[in-house]
Amino acid sequence: MITTKLNLEDKLPLTCSRTGTCCHGKTVWLNPWELALISREKKISRTDFIEQFCDFGGIKLKFEGEKGWKDLKSCSQYIPNFGCSVHLGRPLACRLYPLGRQIQSEKVHYIHEGKEFPCLEGCPEVVNLPFMTVGEYIQDQSAGEFEKSQDNHLELMQQLANIAFELFLDTGLAQSGDTETLNEWIKLGEITPDELNVRIGKDWLNALVLPEIESLENPTQFTNQHTQLLLAKAQEQFGTLITFEEVKNASVLIMGVALQLSRSFGADPKSLSIHWVEAAKSHLQ
Ligand code: SF4
Repeated sequence: MITTKLNLEDKLPLTCSRTGTCCHGKTVWLNPWELALISREKKISRTDFIEQFCDFGGIKLKFEGEKGWKDLKSCSQYIPNFGCSVHLGRPLACRLYPLGRQIQSEKVHYIHEGKEFPCLEGCPEVVNLPFMTVGEYIQDQSAGEFEKSQDNHLELMQQLANIAFELFLDTGLAQSGDTETLNEWIKLGEITPDELNVRIGKDWLNALVLPEIESLENPTQFTNQHTQLLLAKAQEQFGTLITFEEVKNASVLIMGVALQLSRSFGADPKSLSIHWVEAAKSHLQ
């Protein structure tokens, strides 16, 4: 698949016709803030939203609706002949589509994949609309706060992974000759999202996906509060570990939580776990 990097000034057929043509056959992940927002827009609790409309315990929207565009199944939030039922609360992936957003070496890139520009190929209405720059499109889609939220969750993921590192490297576990912990980290990156949920357990999954935070207006405040809740939980559970077996299990558990969080904003747990294992090994040399 060809990936093209875009500049904010690039002008493309990005003006959205808002018909929802593209809401079929996609993968839309939800970070915890996006889950809270979309549930509020739907006017149901997050728990009910997960039960009715999500896969993998609340980190992905179901796409099991009526078949439409290209004979693909529609998003659980799509209403035929109407469009998105949660337009104001739609997540970042929907706001950016057909673009993607990548962060490499702390630099943000916008990309699109494939040879053809998907809006021209799939949405006949767009042909007659004026072109927009990438920057104008992002503004038009009110994506700014959602991008902030993705960046905040990236930081939270790193903090959780740091706990796994500390448990492995700073407790004597690594120096004891343990090889299982890093093998388990790799396995966590390879198993399915549902299997990973089983590994981390309901208690940690709820702490990750359903934090008890009322105010949703500011994504940074939301993630800061979420971070405090998760760090306090880790401190409570991991603060009094005694045996290496307990430390290993704790390191694997919190790494699993970090990897599941990474998936909720579209990162690839497999390459992350490989990267983190290499980083841990480099600390031991
Ligand atoms: S949330 Fe709305 S915009 Fe996003 S895929 Fe579903 S129906 Fe489409």
